[in-house]
Amino acid sequence: MFVEVNDLHYAVIHPPAGALPNCGPWNDLVDDLACAFLVGQEELPRWEAWAHGRTCCVLPTSLDFLIPVKGNIRYALEHLEAQPYESAYVCFDEDELREAISTRLGTVLVGRDPLRIMPDIVADDAADAVTVLQAATNGTAWGFAAELSGSVGHGPRRQHLFILTEAPGVVPYDIGGRVQITIMGRYFSASDTRHGKHQPTYRLQRLKEMAHFGRPFVDALAMVLEITDGRQRVGCVTCVPARPARIGPPPLFEVVEQACRHAANRNGGLPFRPELLRCIRDYQPQKELSGVARRQNVQGAFSVAEGRLPEHVVLVDDIITTGSTVVECARTLIAAGTRSVTVVGLGRTQSCIPQSSSVEAPGCGRRGCPGQLTMRLNKPPRDGAFWGCSEFTEGGRCAAITSWPDGIRAYNTLNRRDAIEDWLDVPF
Ligand SMILES: [Zn+2]
Repeated sequence: MFVEVNDLHYAVIHPPAGALPNCGPWNDLVDDLACAFLVGQEELPRWEAWAHGRTCCVLPTSLDFLIPVKGNIRYALEHLEAQPYESAYVCFDEDELREAISTRLGTVLVGRDPLRIMPDIVADDAADAVTVLQAATNGTAWGFAAELSGSVGHGPRRQHLFILTEAPGVVPYDIGGRVQITIMGRYFSASDTRHGKHQPTYRLQRLKEMAHFGRPFVDALAMVLEITDGRQRVGCVTCVPARPARIGPPPLFEVVEQACRHAANRNGGLPFRPELLRCIRDYQPQKELSGVARRQNVQGAFSVAEGRLPEHVVLVDDIITTGSTVVECARTLIAAGTRSVTVVGLGRTQSCIPQSSSVEAPGCGRRGCPGQLTMRLNKPPRDGAFWGCSEFTEGGRCAAITSWPDGIRAYNTLNRRDAIEDWLDVPF
């Protein structure tokens, strides 16, 4: 998967309760990075003793049920005199990650399924997290693919790195036994605070306009194709086809064609067959629809070219949100005789809350308030997201706020919006 970090100098770490400061990998990390450890009141003395004289600070979080994660992070950054984009947040809990990911920190999730929400780095355990962070810091992460720093003009975007590492167990994600999904990176929608600052997002956005913005993806995609081919021989590579109304090939085709040519472990590269799938009827833009409607929207929209199909096809798409389009394409290929399909997404939309008019928001819950609970983003420079009443900003009539996990749970219960579970529902 791709790991997006900056020049990483700082780490804010929330170790699991009971983790020992002086045994395990933490020593190595504080040698390389300035760290803030967020530990509970009862563990504070031990950590303080250990941190003595080190580039490390300890924050008591006995009130952490009152202070949201982003509050702790902000406090830690101030303590370290660190900027968000030179810092990483390490957590062991997915709910925490959900909150941290809306900040401008690189995020590390330790020990959990990475695809539900994608952190910058996934680590198996604390030792692994330290290894990956160190590798990212000194540029020796395995499979370093492309550093985009400086490749896209001036401003904060220049600071971003784009690193390919293969973390065991991360890719690909298996759905239905015959289709696997590999996600190369993250994509932040326009409503996310990271939209304008995240290099791959910027690139993917521009890719729609001109293929040359996709150039940095070529090497990376070539590498992913090589890895995929090494796992299971690739018969051919294809893309999600353009809608009938489109004139000329989509820019993605050029990216994939070049990547296939560059895939080095095959003489002459991997065969690219852009004509393999065809879009036979127009469909509504997917971003306007909810998960179930998206699936219905694309059902039967594709057909496969005549002739014998390879056993294993790689299907590339630029941005994957719920996966409905790629899953429909994969289903079409399998119905036509392909044995297995590996889907490769250049980016996966990170907002688990699609901005859509057709999804329901949970009620605010306050008596007599007509408002709805919606995910709200703090305006920069205050980072982070929270769940609050929709009436909050419109005249400030209701200030109801719900915790992040509760908000997400209420939303998911109402809309069954977990994209991965959406995919799992699809029979093959
Ligand atoms: Zn309200």
